Amino acid sequence: MSVTLLNNASVQPLLQVRDLKMHFPVKEGIFMRTGKFNKAVDGVSFDILPGETLGLVGESGCGKSTLGRCIARLYQPTAGEILFNGTDLARLGRKAMMPFRRDIQMIFQDPMESLNSRHTVGEILEEPFIVHAMGDKVWRRQRVTELLELVGLPARSATRYPFEFSGGQRQRIGIARAIALNPKLIICDEPVSALDVSIQSQILNLLIDLQKEFNLSYLFIAHDLAVVKHISDRIAIMYLGRIVESGEGESIYRTARHPYTQSLISAIPVPDPHHVSQRQILVGDVPSPINPPSGCAFHTRCPKVMDVCRSVAPVLTSDRQPVSCHLHTS
Ligand code: SF4
Repeated sequence: MSVTLLNNASVQPLLQVRDLKMHFPVKEGIFMRTGKFNKAVDGVSFDILPGETLGLVGESGCGKSTLGRCIARLYQPTAGEILFNGTDLARLGRKAMMPFRRDIQMIFQDPMESLNSRHTVGEILEEPFIVHAMGDKVWRRQRVTELLELVGLPARSATRYPFEFSGGQRQRIGIARAIALNPKLIICDEPVSALDVSIQSQILNLLIDLQKEFNLSYLFIAHDLAVVKHISDRIAIMYLGRIVESGEGESIYRTARHPYTQSLISAIPVPDPHHVSQRQILVGDVPSPINPPSGCAFHTRCPKVMDVCRSVAPVLTSDRQPVSCHLHTS
């Protein structure tokens, strides 16, 4: 099933993802034969406009990080299209992909994993320029100083090592590296999930400021709807490899239609001591994408499940807030 998140603007999208699939083979038995596939991403479609943020939300194991890595071409997708300014990245080989690597960057949840701990921050930030043969040493050092300034770190940070910084500061270094080559699209994979709440808002505000200054587009991946609320123009909800609901940020919060989206919204804390919680607690974990449930993939956990849900997969509606649920098909 193809799930399409259509933008309503007349602007040409920067990114158009069409029916994207990432099926990992599962080796079984003593001969390690491939009998089954882990359908981590199973037919996902959406657009991102220049300067826009699409929030992608779902529980851990729903395929959202795999989707982000496919778009950055850290994985070779099984099927589908990744049209970036009209070029299908899914079909490009390693060499042909090289110029696009400058345009698409990633920010990871734990910057320590992506920052080489044996290199100084200056060396880490200089590396993308060396890889892409840009400028001489004086120019590169000047750019490093500018990048540090852009993310709110002092120039002297260049001589220090990543372990000497706090989690929030390290994420600033990760962001500086992501913007070094003037990208057009940044895939932010849970960039604030490991940070304290007070630091989270500082990093989100930094990302918003940089977006305004450089007209960046973001695919902002998170497991928590509260985090994406602040930063997203549109939001897509993902469950077991597919988008089950999408729409403008405000309308998703005000009029969520899918029972899964409703349960995620009910989990957002309300800072009011008199607020009576109406939290809908989901039972169980996300089922395995190797053996997904029949019919609606959410039926094993849905508080509104009906008989039809167990055998017939719902089709995504084609209105302004597409949803894939039998409660909303006429
Ligand atoms: Fe729940 Fe049925 Fe809708 Fe799936 S199709 S979300 S099981 S009501």
